[in-house]
Amino acid sequence: MCSGRVDLSFVLRAFSKGIDGVFIGGCHLNECNYVTHGNYHALNMVLLAKRIMEHMGLNPDRLRIEFMSGAEASLFVEAVNGFVNQVKKLGPLGVSEGINANEVKSKLAQTTNLVPYIKLVNRDKLASRLKTPEEYDGLFTHDEIEKLFREVVSYYIDPTKCQACSTCLKNCPADAIVGGKNQIHVIDQEKCIKCGTCLNVCPPRFGAVTKISGEPVPPPIPKEARTIARKSKT
Ligand code: SF4
Ligand code: SF4
Repeated sequence: MCSGRVDLSFVLRAFSKGIDGVFIGGCHLNECNYVTHGNYHALNMVLLAKRIMEHMGLNPDRLRIEFMSGAEASLFVEAVNGFVNQVKKLGPLGVSEGINANEVKSKLAQTTNLVPYIKLVNRDKLASRLKTPEEYDGLFTHDEIEKLFREVVSYYIDPTKCQACSTCLKNCPADAIVGGKNQIHVIDQEKCIKCGTCLNVCPPRFGAVTKISGEPVPPPIPKEARTIARKSKT
């Protein structure tokens, strides 16, 4: 599999399954066989994932990317052995970091839910082609990752404006919108991947979807209060 296919969610899933370290091997930069240069995507994803790990309190040394060709078997063995020894020294995930297993799982689950949003916000940087290793550190800074999590956005449907047209429900890629005929629609915040589609597709004449940043989302309107009373045609 091309290293560019290794998604941020794959890395988080490996850790959530109890893996103590993740190693990604890619072709040498600028030696990709494809126009996509997926190894740059992999590098940028790893740099982002390491910052996110720091945000979660996990040691970023548990994740490593190395570049090598198919003819460099000894380099591969050396890199993998070095990484395995390093992870052994770190011990089980969370232990050397002082975070208990349940907390690690919960942090990983919350972050995994935000992956589409994180990728959307960082799409330009994730498409970068860094020229030198000296640039690696600056691609994603601690401050911007802290800000990203602090100001994470949410989407909310204003029950006084929703006209139950279901456009948002039909276009939501995560099946996160609950609604029906003549029913005020509601976003299931647990399922929402914060793609913003509902905001874009809600007809402007209704303008019922709001983007909220860094603030709590109002509670959903109770089920029994969701029916919209329509004027009957006479
Ligand atoms: S932002 Fe809107 S469209 Fe996107 S997943 Fe959340 S509810 Fe669905
Ligand atoms: S698109 Fe807007 S008006 Fe239509 S159901 Fe969704 S939130 Fe309500």
